Amino acid sequence: MAQRSTAIARPILRPPQEVAWRKDLLGYRPVRWLVRQRWLQFALILPNLFVFTIVIMAGFLGTPIGAKNFAIIFVWIVWWALLILVLVPFGARIWCAMCPIPAVGEWMQRRAFILWKPKTFGLARKWPKGLRNLWVANFGFASIALTSAVLTTRPIVTGAVLLGLVIIAAVTHLVFERRTFCRYLCPVGGFLGLYSMAAPVEVRRVDAEVCRQCQFKACFRGSTEASLRVGGVGGYGCPNFEFPGAPMERNTYCLLCTECIKACPYENITIRTRPFFQDLQVEKGRKLDEAYKAFIMLGAAIMYSIVMLGPWGRIKDWANFTSFSGLLLYAAIFLGSILVAAPALHLVFTWLSRVFAGGSRPDLKKLFVDYAYTLVPLGLAGWIAFSFSFVLPNISYALSVLSDPFGWGWDLFGTKGYPWTPYAPHLLPYIQVPTLLLGLVLSIKVGSRWGIPLPGKTSPHPPRPGGRSSPSLHTWQV
Ligand code: SF4
Ligand code: SF4
Ligand code: SF4
Repeated sequence: MAQRSTAIARPILRPPQEVAWRKDLLGYRPVRWLVRQRWLQFALILPNLFVFTIVIMAGFLGTPIGAKNFAIIFVWIVWWALLILVLVPFGARIWCAMCPIPAVGEWMQRRAFILWKPKTFGLARKWPKGLRNLWVANFGFASIALTSAVLTTRPIVTGAVLLGLVIIAAVTHLVFERRTFCRYLCPVGGFLGLYSMAAPVEVRRVDAEVCRQCQFKACFRGSTEASLRVGGVGGYGCPNFEFPGAPMERNTYCLLCTECIKACPYENITIRTRPFFQDLQVEKGRKLDEAYKAFIMLGAAIMYSIVMLGPWGRIKDWANFTSFSGLLLYAAIFLGSILVAAPALHLVFTWLSRVFAGGSRPDLKKLFVDYAYTLVPLGLAGWIAFSFSFVLPNISYALSVLSDPFGWGWDLFGTKGYPWTPYAPHLLPYIQVPTLLLGLVLSIKVGSRWGIPLPGKTSPHPPRPGGRSSPSLHTWQV
């Protein structure tokens, strides 16, 4: 075996700011060992793929009664609760590291379940330049959101949509390079990326100088025979087209797949904890397509609360597609609210902020985009609050469908007869109101101090108190 090169010393010391909130998780030997194992992601995906297969089978073959079908209860109650209440706020896109949707396509593309292989299978085409953004994913999410009343109650629709996503992902993997599907097409990935900016965990390079001198750039290009002679355990270039050595400054597109950690020959990538909402300080990379995702998510949370929790039966009928004219009206109201009304209101308040600020006025479009990121804490809080309203009353269904996933009368674990038990319904307002208020306070804080440039102020760094524009922005947030 060839001698290992010592051209660049490996970073031994971790950055000095490793205090309190900032912990280098790869400083712990068992964690470092674990993330460098090639089987890790396969082991995370496998159980989810098993559950996912049951979900699709239950969708197509099980009872059409949603409350008795595994597909509805495990996707829209159990998985959703885990995702929005735990995984995204605390683990960023950790779901993407274990998601079964792109797994089949990725295994075909890599010609392996676990091993690193230097050559991949498929046409490896590049995704068209004009579509390298979140617009397709945004419209995909808006379409799915529009049909949510049907999707979350009819098992066959859930099964068909999930199977459709697996098929589209597999075809995309065979035609395009890496995980093009996850980066540009997945309707779930866009909002995971947006809210992952809140999470107190990040994958980042350790030492900029080591990256500058590194001739392999294996975190982006993937391991090579030459890079492996220096170090690394063999890893693919970042599947989601990120270049952590560049550096990568936000969580938005990091799938936490750990391939860069496995590929880097200098062990120069780590996983760190950090304060919440850290990425909202990063000005670089803010874009209109991401900003629109913030409007879509906040608007959808508000619309769902009105449709599903409000007393208006007629709107519920429209959302359930009971008549064609109702469907058209609902589509116009829903899409109009999230795609037109919310951005238009945002534009008005952005313009007002700019007018009241006086002095040198920044570009309106840039300000419009920058201010949209202040809606991230509020949007996430809105989704958490909304999710409590259906998770707590309905999570008890999970026990009965676990024993009888298809509604065929099975009793696999003896829990089929567990009655519907809404948990803590009287506590809901006491959970939801503080959650929303916390989101509002954090949004105001982001707008005031955390690097959203205010009109007349040129640089968001270092953070500074809000200027004359704040009242307009905060009126919109409230
Ligand atoms: S982007 Fe979508 S398909 Fe890809 S891993 Fe994440 S959730 Fe799964
Ligand atoms: S993170 Fe990437 S660029 Fe930096 S040393 Fe590792 S492989 Fe090289
Ligand atoms: S390779 Fe690294 S930067 Fe890219 S998605 Fe995986 S963990 Fe994130």
